[in-house]
Amino acid sequence: MDLFEAAKQLGFVAMGVSPCQRPLFFDPFRAWVAAGKQGDMAWLARHMDIREDPGRLLEGCRSVVSLAYPYSVNRPATPDGYVAARYTEPRRQDYHDRLRESAKQVARLIETNYPGAKTRVCVDSAPLLERSFAYASGLGFIGKNNMLIVPGYGSYVFLTEVLTTARIPGTGHGGIQNPCGDCRRCVEACPTGALEKPFGVDAAKCLSYLTIEMKQMVDEKTGEKMGRCFFGCDRCQEVCPFNPKESREDVSLPPVKSIQTMDEPSFTSVFGKTAFARAGLTKIRGNIAAMTGEPRECENGVL
Ligand code: SF4
Ligand code: SF4
Repeated sequence: MDLFEAAKQLGFVAMGVSPCQRPLFFDPFRAWVAAGKQGDMAWLARHMDIREDPGRLLEGCRSVVSLAYPYSVNRPATPDGYVAARYTEPRRQDYHDRLRESAKQVARLIETNYPGAKTRVCVDSAPLLERSFAYASGLGFIGKNNMLIVPGYGSYVFLTEVLTTARIPGTGHGGIQNPCGDCRRCVEACPTGALEKPFGVDAAKCLSYLTIEMKQMVDEKTGEKMGRCFFGCDRCQEVCPFNPKESREDVSLPPVKSIQTMDEPSFTSVFGKTAFARAGLTKIRGNIAAMTGEPRECENGVL
């Protein structure tokens, strides 16, 4: 079966192939890390040798297959008026597990179509510059908001990759010319100034990092910039003309008041299989407290 057709049937909206080589954006990435723009995400500074030479992830790797899977354009909301980033899709299992299964099916088909080929599936699980490979394969362009934008679908997509020793014809044709032009909507919409310059994000200022990845709790000053969103941030994507405009709020989350009083077993039962589990209850309660200005309770008292 044709690989592209199979990927489409599995729900991927775009697939591209690029040679396994030094990523196009390796130098800007290394400079970004050297400037300390990654906050306390120390793993981004590790395995620079692998990031530069992704062939180290799979011996004999020749091709990188990049796949884009869409997530809902609707905003997950609570009944009391708060929202979370779209990618969280609280009604669904964490995307890592779902995408891995679908990408494995693409990998199996590569092994069938190219007898003897080895494959390795990556879903945020390896030090790979995935947007660089997606761009090189012609999947889309990198917007000034630093997102990979797939023409016709926008940036509300997850990326995943299949590395393979098969020599699959590339689809890149030199990349897509950036159509942002004079537009600066994302840079201007960012509430924290994290998009310091086009194509340059200071993760340490970005609400997506501060409310999900950062180990410490967010402070009240940050809380004031979060608006109604207690987990992640979509603002630089919402304003992008390449993203779909039809978006509604989908009440798929419990009230924030009930999240604030949840214990760990209840959190696991409500959020255990979702993208929220990665940040954990304490972090999410800290986000809500910073946003609402209410004191944070925990097992040992007020945080
Ligand atoms: S996710 Fe939010 S805080 Fe981060 S760059 Fe985009 S608009 Fe700014
Ligand atoms: S909002 Fe404008 S500048 Fe930002 S990524 Fe979209 S098109 Fe480019």
